[in-house]
Amino acid sequence: MNEQVLKAKQIVENYDGRPLRIMEVCGTHTHEIFRLGIRQMLPENIHLISGPGCPVCVTPVGYIDQAIDLALNHHCTICTFGDLIRVPGSDMSLQQARAKGAKIVMIYSPTDAFTYAQSHLDEDVVLLAVGFETTTPASCMAIRDAKKNNLTNFSALVANKTMDNAYLALKDSADAFLYPGHVSTITGCQIYRDLCEEGISGVVTGFTGPEILTALAVIIKKLEKGQPFFMNCYPRVVRDEGSPSARKIIASVMEPCDSIWRGIGNIPGSGLQIKAAYQDFDARKKYGLENTQGHPNPACRCGDILRGDCMPNECPLFGKVCTPEHPVGACMVSNEGSCSAFYKYME
Ligand code: SF4
Repeated sequence: MNEQVLKAKQIVENYDGRPLRIMEVCGTHTHEIFRLGIRQMLPENIHLISGPGCPVCVTPVGYIDQAIDLALNHHCTICTFGDLIRVPGSDMSLQQARAKGAKIVMIYSPTDAFTYAQSHLDEDVVLLAVGFETTTPASCMAIRDAKKNNLTNFSALVANKTMDNAYLALKDSADAFLYPGHVSTITGCQIYRDLCEEGISGVVTGFTGPEILTALAVIIKKLEKGQPFFMNCYPRVVRDEGSPSARKIIASVMEPCDSIWRGIGNIPGSGLQIKAAYQDFDARKKYGLENTQGHPNPACRCGDILRGDCMPNECPLFGKVCTPEHPVGACMVSNEGSCSAFYKYME
């Protein structure tokens, strides 16, 4: 451990000031913070909150219901990332729908869905497009390629989200944010300076133990000064301008809209929808889907956990009814979900 990291570790471990709430908003941070045992080294007055950084965790129940409707009632082939298949909908998950005859194809990239549709012209293929700024460009490219190739059996059910308005919605839940390293490679840093103007503080950080500890130490020292702040503690990867080309791809295919976040509700301007020029590839329009809120299990406390109002083990279902093998809520499904990480590393 070099001298700078050692100093950061001492600042964090010896902190004895007012109680601090620091929220990470990246599923990989959530996982790494648990895995590296960083929570155990924190003093009691530093409270780390696992916010809404896992895309699977924040995708609402109504979206899963729509995907199941497409599979069972419209006989579409659903192309999805693996984690989403086990997320409970109102009545069942996609995995359970598969047992009822739904055709579900696991993909590793949105491009796989486009390729699948090209080679299965007798199937109506729907890509489940979820995720934040890092995964959205690939979904936009798949939609763009489908239009370019006049691929009429391909569409996307879009629930992509952007983070900037989520910070505004959650600003009373945290004293400072650990901003996500991956998302920031796309957004760049200006959004954080704008948030700073709104009184919201945070630092961008990477995913190693030294990087996370350094970021926590910076937050502690900056909060002591009492002024809103932003610092990029991950400059070897995150450039100030982010990725203008990735943002351009997104802007060419999608536009901002309001979006429901599981457990949090509607956050104005935090979602993306397919632009009119690509509406033939919008599964909601193509199949006339009705917007539905869905019915999450009322006992599940994912929303409280994502807002930092309780810890996973305070949920009465945690580890008893709800386990990674039998998840009741989305936060127990993905490795990046806080309930799943807590179950794996803290039990
Ligand atoms: S333990 Fe399960 S039921 Fe409880 S909040 Fe987490 S995901 Fe929901």
